[in-house]
Amino acid sequence: MFAACRNFQKLGFQIIIITNQSGIAKGFYDENDFDIVNNWVLAEFKKNRVNILDVFFCPHAPDDNCNCRKPKPGMLLQAQAKHNIAMNKSWMIGDKEADIQAANAAGITNTILVRSGHKINEANSNATHIIDSLKDYSDIF
Ligand SMILES: [Zn+2]
Repeated sequence: MFAACRNFQKLGFQIIIITNQSGIAKGFYDENDFDIVNNWVLAEFKKNRVNILDVFFCPHAPDDNCNCRKPKPGMLLQAQAKHNIAMNKSWMIGDKEADIQAANAAGITNTILVRSGHKINEANSNATHIIDSLKDYSDIF
């Protein structure tokens, strides 16, 4: 995965993490715990020469009806506003259909759904590409 990310960077992309964290609303962990894990994740990326431009997370539960939890586009629109992103040149890579739906709702049409070992409804997916692993991205770019 780090190799794929390094290649995205070589292609001129910046990488942003957009993540649903309803475990916060459910009380499984708090924002401080998330920060600790997030900092560790960012350090791992950095060790592997991948720079993560930003991280957006939704701390709400599904029934909170916020506008940030994917499949809603809120976090992507925040990222767009903060970093002045050209959505028509951007790609969403996700492992759930909600990622693809959020991207489409935010104006991103280039989407990759990664199977990564769990069940997805491929026949009903709006993803433009479906791959087994991020290692297979070179079939697309
Ligand atoms: Zn939210």
